Parts: sequence; C-alpha cells; structure tokens
Amino acid sequence: MSESKDFLRAIVAEDLKAGKYETVHTRFPPEPNGFPHIGHAKSITLNFGIARDFNGLCNLRMDDTDPTKEDMKFVEALKDAVKWLGFDWEERLYFTSDYFPKLYGYAQELIKMGKAYVDSLNEEEIREYRGTVTEPGRRSKYAERSVEENLDLFERMKNGEFAEGEHVLRAKIDMSAANMKMRDPLLYRIRHATHYRVGDAWHIYPMYDFAHCLSDYIEGISHSFCTLEFENNRDIYDWVIETLGLPPPRPYQYEFARLNMNYTVMSKRKLLELVEGGYVNGWDDPRLPTIAGYKRRGYTPESILTFCEQIGVAKANSTVDVAQLEFCIRDDLNTKVPRVMCVLDPLKVTIVNYEGSEELDASYYPHDVPKEGSRKLPFSKEVYIDRSDFSENPPKGYFRLTPEQPVRLKHAYIIACKEVIKDKEGNIVEIKAEYYPDSKSGSDTSGIKVRSAIQWVDAKRAKRVEVRLYDRLYKVEAPEGLDDLNPDSLKVAKGALIEPAVIEEKPDVRFQFEREGYFYVDPVDYSDEAPVFNKIVGLKDSWGKKKKKAPKATEKKQKQPQKQQIDGEEAPMSEEEKARFEVYTGKLGLNHAVANTLARDAKLSAFFEEAMGAEGAGAVTIANLVANEVARELKEQDADALKFTPQHVAELAKMLDSEQISSKIAKEVFELMVQSGDAPEKIVEEKGLRQISDPAVIAPIIDDIMEKNPDNVAKYREGNSKLLGFFVGQTLKATGGKANPKVVNELVAEKLRG
Ligand code: ATP
Ligand code: MG
Repeated sequence: MSESKDFLRAIVAEDLKAGKYETVHTRFPPEPNGFPHIGHAKSITLNFGIARDFNGLCNLRMDDTDPTKEDMKFVEALKDAVKWLGFDWEERLYFTSDYFPKLYGYAQELIKMGKAYVDSLNEEEIREYRGTVTEPGRRSKYAERSVEENLDLFERMKNGEFAEGEHVLRAKIDMSAANMKMRDPLLYRIRHATHYRVGDAWHIYPMYDFAHCLSDYIEGISHSFCTLEFENNRDIYDWVIETLGLPPPRPYQYEFARLNMNYTVMSKRKLLELVEGGYVNGWDDPRLPTIAGYKRRGYTPESILTFCEQIGVAKANSTVDVAQLEFCIRDDLNTKVPRVMCVLDPLKVTIVNYEGSEELDASYYPHDVPKEGSRKLPFSKEVYIDRSDFSENPPKGYFRLTPEQPVRLKHAYIIACKEVIKDKEGNIVEIKAEYYPDSKSGSDTSGIKVRSAIQWVDAKRAKRVEVRLYDRLYKVEAPEGLDDLNPDSLKVAKGALIEPAVIEEKPDVRFQFEREGYFYVDPVDYSDEAPVFNKIVGLKDSWGKKKKKAPKATEKKQKQPQKQQIDGEEAPMSEEEKARFEVYTGKLGLNHAVANTLARDAKLSAFFEEAMGAEGAGAVTIANLVANEVARELKEQDADALKFTPQHVAELAKMLDSEQISSKIAKEVFELMVQSGDAPEKIVEEKGLRQISDPAVIAPIIDDIMEKNPDNVAKYREGNSKLLGFFVGQTLKATGGKANPKVVNELVAEKLRG
C-alpha cells in the first residue's frame, strides 16, 4: 500500500519491477550551511521513507561544496535531525568534499574529450554571452583553447595561482540550447577560502550541477529526488553522466514540490538572519521551524512524521497551513500525556468556610485515554485560580466564576464568590469564597449546577514555575521580512504556579495543562529549583478563530455543557473519523477547522456527503454551509426532521459559487429554507434576492448617495481614503445587501476618483 502512495513511489516500484535496479538507493543531501527545517523533514521522510518501504538504502550526504558557509555544527544538527526523526544512515554518512579528488579526475576527463574548457570571461561577460530566453548565446573565444592548455590552467586554478573570478571551468554543450542551463554551464570556480573539512587543500570548488550527479553515481544512488527548482538542471545531470560514458546502473533525477507553510519562513538565508540578528534565541528557538526548534518546543517526532505523511508529495508547489502541523502535534499528545493543573496568572482565593487540609485523588488521564496513573492534589483554605477565570462584570456566555455564578474547582469542590477584595487602584487582589462541602468531585450530592470546571492550585504546596508562551513567529500568512514578525510570539509567565506532583513525581516531560494547552519541560533551562516549561501548542487553533467569527452554534451548544467544553479539550478521533478527515482535507481540499467539525460528527458528515452527491457546487462551499448553518439545525434534531434537504443545500452552494447570490443573502435564504422547506431557487426568485452585478443598476444608486453626501465626497478627494468604505457600505445597504460587493467597490472607487 505504501508502495504506490505517491508518484515517486510509483516510479520506484515500476523500476524495481522492470529490473532496472536490484535495490532502491536514495540519499538525503543537505548542504551543512544552516539548521535543517520542516522542509528538510519532508525530504528526510521521503528519501529514508522510500528506502525503508522498498527494503533499500538511504545515505546521508553532506553536500559541502561551498567553503564560505559550511560548518561542522550544521553537520551535527543535520545528523541529529535525521536520528530524531527515527531514521538511520547506518555507516553511510558521506561528504561531497571526500569526492573532490574523484570529481577533479572526472573534470580532467571531460577536458580531454573536448567537452570542458577553462573560460576567462568575467562574471558579467559570462552573463551577457549567455543570451536570453528568446535569443541564443555566444560562445566565449576561450572555448578554442587546446586540451593541453585547459588541463594546465585547470591544474593551476586548483593550486591557487589565480584570483577568484579570473577563470572558471565550463562544460562545452550548446550556447543556443532552449534550456538556458545547458548553455555551457559552470563546472568549477575558484574560491580562496578555508573549507571546514579539507582546509586549504583546494582552491577550486565544484558547482552543484557537476558535483551532485557524480556524487549520486559514486554512491550507487538509483533515484535522486530533488525539489522542482532543479527541473531544468536535470538536462545537465544527464549530460554529465552520459558524456562521461559511466557504466550502468546510473542514477536518475526526479523532482517533487518543496514544502511551503504559511506564517513561516524556510529559506536558510532568512533563518540565518533571524538567528544572527538576535530576533530569536538561537537555532533551537522554539518559534523557529527548525527541527531543533520543534524538538526544544516539545513537538514529537511522531507528529512531524504524521504531518509529512499527510501532506504527501506532489508535482506542483503549494502552501500548507501551519494549522495542519499544529493539529498533528495536538492529536498526538491528546491521548498520550498527563493532564495537570497550572495557573499562569494567579489570583488568590480564600475559602472562608474551609479548615484544615486534604489530599484529593485525581487521575492524570481522562477515562477515554488508555493509560493509568493518578496523583494527589493538596487542597486547603487558600488556593489560586487564573485571573481570567473570575469576572466581576461577565460578558454574555461567561461560564466561570462571577459574584453571582459558582464554579467547580476541577477534581475538587464547587465554590461561590462572597467578596471581592481590591487594592487602592481598584485591582482585584483576592476573592473570598465559600465552598459546598457536599460538592466534592466524584461524590457530589449538592445538586448545584455549574457551567464549568476551572484549574487551580493549592497556595501552600504549589510550585512556582516559569512558563514560556510561544506563539507564531510571524503575524501574517506570507511573511516577507522582519516587519512581519509577531511582537507577541513569546510571552513569559514568570509567576505561574503548578501543582506539586508535576515537579516531584515527574510523570512525564510533556503535559496538558488543563484548559491552557500542551507544555514541555524545557530541555535546556529546566531545573527542579527553577522549572521552565515551553508551550507546545494551544488546545484549539486560536488563529483560525481570530480570522473567522465563531459560528453562532456555540451559544446553543454551551447551554448543555458537555464534558468536552468544560475541559476545553478535544477528544481523539476514532478510526472512522480520521479516515473521513483525511479525505476531506486531502481530496476535497477542505480546511482543517471545517474538516474537523464535519469528520467528528456522523450526522453532519452524512449530510455533507449526501449534498456532495448533488450536481454542480464546490466541496468547499457546501462544507462551509454544512459546518456553519446546517450544524446549528442538526444540533437539536435528526436530519429526517429537517424541512430542507441536502439537495437544497447543494443548490444554495451552487448559487453562491456562480455569484447569483452573496454570502450575506445566502444566510438569509438558508433561514427561509429552514422555516419553509422551499427550494433556494424559489426563495431567491420570490423574494427578489438575486445578486445585482449589473453596473447599470448599481451606478445610479451610488450617484444618489454621493449627491446626498457632498462633504464626504470632498473629504475623500482631499485624501481621506477611509471614506471609500463609507460609500461602499451605504450602497450595499441601499440594495438590501444584494449588490455584488466586488462590483460596488470598483464602481465606487471609479466614481469617487471623479
Ligand atoms: P535553501 O534554499 O534554504 O538553502 P536548500 O533546499 O538549498 O535550502 P539543502 O540543504 O540543499 O537546502 O536541502 C537538502 C535537501 O532538502 C534537498 O534535497 C532539498 O531538496 C530538500 N529540501 C530543502 N528544503 C525543502 C523544502 N522546503 N521542502 C522539501 N524539501 C526540501
Ligand atoms: Mg541547496
């Protein structure tokens, strides 16, 4: 099954079947000029994974041909990353720099065949002579040099007799080749720098195009996988091997799409800038997408492997949502790690009617986790809760402690607020509370209803810890530079308090801090005297939420609090749910949040899948309607009881997709479908809700609004561009939300320009 999972595995399987190779032999060939990142993880899992799946071999090769950037510490980081991900190069750790003598010999052979020459044009001339995509290049006059002269010059280049840039060695191929890379590519250049391994032995260094294919050949590689940018280099790869007439079996190059992820930079140059400029704390800063960073943050190798498997390999570049990686780590830890209580921002609560102390039994794992283990929770008159879990003036839907509303201290008792103590500035410094003696968790006979259970710690026995709250390093999806850094990517809670068992018993190194997220014992700075924890990931994707408004469904949902809500955690998916989730995010291209909602709910997914069977609308549109609108209706009843059908929803989606109605109107139509059970077409027709996209209809409405607001028109024209929104809003309002916003925007802008 894993053999034909992707197009590269299909190629390998075919080659083995045809007897082209006895064994598949791949390699992971990084340049040791930076720490490996999540993109390298993709390449590692691909190369080592294919070797494993086909009982082949995979080498680890340091592609170290540039003496100016490489370093042993990067070699170590690369080895670490491969090992940490669970792969093994056995005794096959190789260095391209070890092949320098062999490569030099191959270059001499090419010269002797008249297939390579020493060129003495300077860099600019070389570029100029190369021509353009539409114009052929010209060959340098130095290409006429004799074999003897070339051999002599090449040797003297090697010995350091010339300055950098004075000469280069080039392949003699075709200066008018359609593939510009084939216009006499450079094979060697002069570099007077000390190489981290071979020192000053060499003054010339081979170019990627020459070194890579030959290193593959030397190592007996069968399949050489690289990223798409190298597609045009494949011709050189083949030319070198064929021209040298190397006996088979020979390697072939295949390209796959590199991994790009939103909110993330992966170029080594940019990562280096962050590290060297002190924007992060070293290569293993937990905010970096480096393997060292993920490792220090607390990611598990399993979660990264799952992620790499989920994203798969493809032939076209695309950007993966970082939420998908976060989902993988959450999913991995959810059923593995103990749940404990840590209060990040402590607020003292004195329970005035409690005397003495006791130890409460509390399991580390919820009942649906197949693991056992528990600890004692000390409890006494003074406890701390999180400041955010008390509100004097609670907003609607606030389910935690308020002057009127009791709350449960998780694993302990229900308490009610009796008095709020403030300092001179009016800040709350303490809560005086009463507890209900018969409300103890597990033997509650109090009959008191609470809407949530919050974390807390015992004042005397809790341990003070530092918690590093990491968030995304960039605040924008497609970061370009330092300006896009998220200023809140690291917050430190120095005065956090944790229950004592975490420090004293050490049940694990990763934890779920109840209602806060997943945390990891910092492998560098932690000590029992000064414990430090890193936030791995929150319990939910808060970034997705920031972007989209929470669906209305939550309010109803919270009226019947389920265990899931109180704890703020997500249950693990069943096999069936996982399978659905994979199809939804994979083939159907749904985003994670929507796929998650649908996959976890049998009623919703059945409804969705039935709607998908109808003609015409896109999966994403249908899924959004089902996850947001339909979900609300299905909460309280079964699909049979609904007046509308999956076909209706598909029709509605189709009208949205074809821009017959706006998304605002779609919501209105949906409400009417719920009430009447009429087909959306009919509703739209009868109510005249069809989207208006005709400029001839919209233009007079805009004229009218401009006429009524001459001051605003003048202000806009004097430079107050914010007023554009005013006019757009007024126009949409005047059409009852039926005007096509895109058309309105364009027309308004045009008319205001005058
Ligand atoms: P950079 O361009 O940042 O220097 P690179 O791709 O040149 O990165 P290498 O060390 O040469 O870095 O890469 C080693 C291997 O990892 C190569 O085979 C390369 O194709 C692969 N690789 C690097 N980045 C990615 C990525 N984002 N997605 C998939 N594979 C990658
Ligand atoms: Mg590279």
